[in-house]
Amino acid sequence: MEKAFDHIIADYAGNKVMVNGAEHLVGECSVALLNCFNEPDELEAFGDLSDDILADSVYVESSETTQDHIDVLCEDILSLLRLVKDFHPFVPFATEVQLEAVWESLSGEIIVSLRRLYHECAKIAEETGKAVQTILQRVRPDLDAERILGIVTNSNRQIANMITLYGEYGRDLMFAKNEINVLAERFRLLKKPDATHLLPIAFYALPKVATPTKVQFVKAEFEGDLEFKLANRYFFSRYLDFIFYDFYQGLGLGHYPRRCEVCGKYFLMTDSHLQRYCNGLSGIKNRAGKELTCRAVGKQRRQKELAENDPILRKYKTVCNGIRKDVSRGKITEETAEAAKRAAKDCKEKAKHNNDYANGAYFTDMNKNRFYAMVTPKDTRVA
Ligand SMILES: [Zn+2]
Repeated sequence: MEKAFDHIIADYAGNKVMVNGAEHLVGECSVALLNCFNEPDELEAFGDLSDDILADSVYVESSETTQDHIDVLCEDILSLLRLVKDFHPFVPFATEVQLEAVWESLSGEIIVSLRRLYHECAKIAEETGKAVQTILQRVRPDLDAERILGIVTNSNRQIANMITLYGEYGRDLMFAKNEINVLAERFRLLKKPDATHLLPIAFYALPKVATPTKVQFVKAEFEGDLEFKLANRYFFSRYLDFIFYDFYQGLGLGHYPRRCEVCGKYFLMTDSHLQRYCNGLSGIKNRAGKELTCRAVGKQRRQKELAENDPILRKYKTVCNGIRKDVSRGKITEETAEAAKRAAKDCKEKAKHNNDYANGAYFTDMNKNRFYAMVTPKDTRVA
């Protein structure tokens, strides 16, 4: 029986993928990769733990394995899982329930005593030339020998799987992160980032990774899907194989990671529009203290850029700023200011639709004193 933490199990149907029970758009996991472990300390701690797990494997695979070795391995795997608990596709592996399951299967009381029993019997079997099962039956006739053999074999396979998955994870993650990052930067320069343009760039850099080991047909279980749909279920024993498979599948659908120009985080693009900002929050607050979305900040920046490059808008802004200053210094009333701003806006609108006016009279018309004079003289100054 395979446990969820043995493999990455991914069901692909259309543009969605279910990875160990969590639903994503195809290609989304590579976005999570680019956004995680960006602090050098984090990445180092992570790489060190991965290396430790690989080093533990030397003891665990040798015939002199002791429970102490397995306990050390167990602690290292649990620490690594705690580090990746918010990181896709490892979120489902790192729930408290899963951590408990990992501990139970490596260091739990029952498995430890069964393993001890097995080793004792294996030793006798070796000395006597008899089968382990025969010795087991003789030593503990009250237990089901076949079942015990099954549990111990299964547990050893689990350990081997976990070592492969987590021991190579540090190196896999850094390699995949760098490769995908370089490609994402190249995609940014594309005028039309669709599958036809994304794939040739990506093929050029296609890393050699193993393909999934097993494929099954299963019923797709995505949220909101009412019809019966088939999904291809793939089993990956290494993170590297999964992440590149998912990334390239995503590119084929026109899904690719793009960096937000406001917050700097990556987000998944699902069409060839040149979206420059993510849908998230920017961390930047407005005057009222409300946090703005990256889109809102982006829009403000674009308007500012536009205004700075447009003489009509630049003139309009200068006049409006002047009006604001006058009212705050008490030179004019609020009413006059409002009327003057309205008049300035009318001039600007007229200039937008009339080129002759924009190139001529606009610049003399756009004058705050002229606007003040248009309002009844007694209102123009505070009494
Ligand atoms: Zn953003």
